[in-house]
Amino acid sequence: MALHQAKICMGCWEHMHLPVPLRGVASMPFRAFGIRPSRMNPNTCTICEMMFTKIMKARHVTIDATVMFADLRGYTSLSQSRSADEVSTLLDTFYDECANAIWEHDGILNKTMGDGLLALFNFPISHDDHARRALRTAHLIQDRWHDIRTTLSEAAGQDIGVGIGIDCGRLSFGEFGHSHTDITAIGNVVNTAARAQAAATSGQILLTEAVYARTQSELPDSQARDYQLKGFETVTRLYAA
Ligand SMILES: [Zn+2]
Repeated sequence: MALHQAKICMGCWEHMHLPVPLRGVASMPFRAFGIRPSRMNPNTCTICEMMFTKIMKARHVTIDATVMFADLRGYTSLSQSRSADEVSTLLDTFYDECANAIWEHDGILNKTMGDGLLALFNFPISHDDHARRALRTAHLIQDRWHDIRTTLSEAAGQDIGVGIGIDCGRLSFGEFGHSHTDITAIGNVVNTAARAQAAATSGQILLTEAVYARTQSELPDSQARDYQLKGFETVTRLYAA
């Protein structure tokens, strides 16, 4: 499925009923003012990224959202045995595959960190079924990576798979930091999603109970297990999707 390319920014339309053209001739005057498709999701714009400070008059907002972390397994040891070019091509492919899957479900690719990434669902484009969208995105990434993985793993002589963790609930999203301003999500949901991702094996998707509660009907055969996640005092129940 190719990404549906919105003509106007979906975030600005939803939050302000403002038609901000993203593509074509109509977008040209906007581009002169630095308003262009956001790198986090090309169906939203650079105004959306600044929506907190400029429109909501707040540095960050508290929202109900879903956070997904995905990480490329085997990448670190691969980077020791391969050329820098080969490794960066691999990483580009991984980010591209993930970005497309995220955007197809109206999420944003908020951050890339080394061999991993953070995606957020339900802002600036709202969807009540954001947890389901994150789950479908995760399945799509694993499906698409499956073919690449076979070829890559043979060539590399080791498994190059993806581990994914997802949590949902209330979190803060917006600008954090003073000397270096960063637009990102913070809160327990973010930490738990990151830890669930770290616990996931190559090719696995792990969901928290909160995500499972919202996606249960799509997961009739899901297996639950208790994990001792790093930095958590009590065990956390995670579901394999
Ligand atoms: Zn916008």
